[in-house]
Amino acid sequence: MHSILQQIQNIQNRIHKCCEKIGRNPAEVRLLLATKTVTAERILTAFESGVTLIGENKIQELKEKYDALKIHPHTHHFIGHLQSNKIKDILKYDVACIQSIDRLELAEKLHQRLLATNRSIDILIQVNTSNEVSKFGVEPSKTIELVEQIATLSTLKIKGLMTIGIFSGEDEKVRACFKTLKNLQQQIQVRSIPNVEMKELSMGMSGDLEIAIEEGATIIRVGTAIFGQRNYPDSYYWNETSSKK
Ligand SMILES: *Cc1c(COP(=O)(O)O)cnc(C)c1O
Repeated sequence: MHSILQQIQNIQNRIHKCCEKIGRNPAEVRLLLATKTVTAERILTAFESGVTLIGENKIQELKEKYDALKIHPHTHHFIGHLQSNKIKDILKYDVACIQSIDRLELAEKLHQRLLATNRSIDILIQVNTSNEVSKFGVEPSKTIELVEQIATLSTLKIKGLMTIGIFSGEDEKVRACFKTLKNLQQQIQVRSIPNVEMKELSMGMSGDLEIAIEEGATIIRVGTAIFGQRNYPDSYYWNETSSKK
């Protein structure tokens, strides 16, 4: 078996084991392949596993792999930092969900574009649960207000929340990030905001997916544990000043 397929199997085993331990249905946890720096050829190999949900961080990579990936049905989410001037481009590549909406100005621009083309798109609100200046996302204390504001934009379908947990060897610090996201989800759910469906919690990566599943993740985003170490530092994708601690 190809090593990529073996690694996907390993991740699926981890998901199942964790769900079994805590009594969750593994079907509630979707595996998203984080495919930054991964070639289209290797992604097509990964699709043979039956997992066809992928996430890119950069429009440039979406564009480069778009034609090659077309031959296999799949679903694309955008999980990277999105600049306002790239909105026009992202709408060209069949992105089903943008997981990284974190400010009103960006949402408004996206809404204008979608209105003009008579479309709508699923989004998640990215929350900075780790309190690190280096991470993107809205502050937890400002999240509910942002959700309420974006909910008024009819073309944007809010499906839940996304976060990148703190990079820490201390599980309890990581867990606190995921608890923050879950807690926000519950606070938003009770408000029954029109046009908001708070069902998704996108959290957990290669190193912390079990903690995320225990805290209620419905989408985990895994790259390194499947495709191996990347040649670029994550700072290239996240922010100039961020670094893994
Ligand atoms: C790269 C990336 C991941 C996957 O991280 P790994 O540690 O490689 O599993 C998840 N989410 C986002 C937003 C990413 O940029």
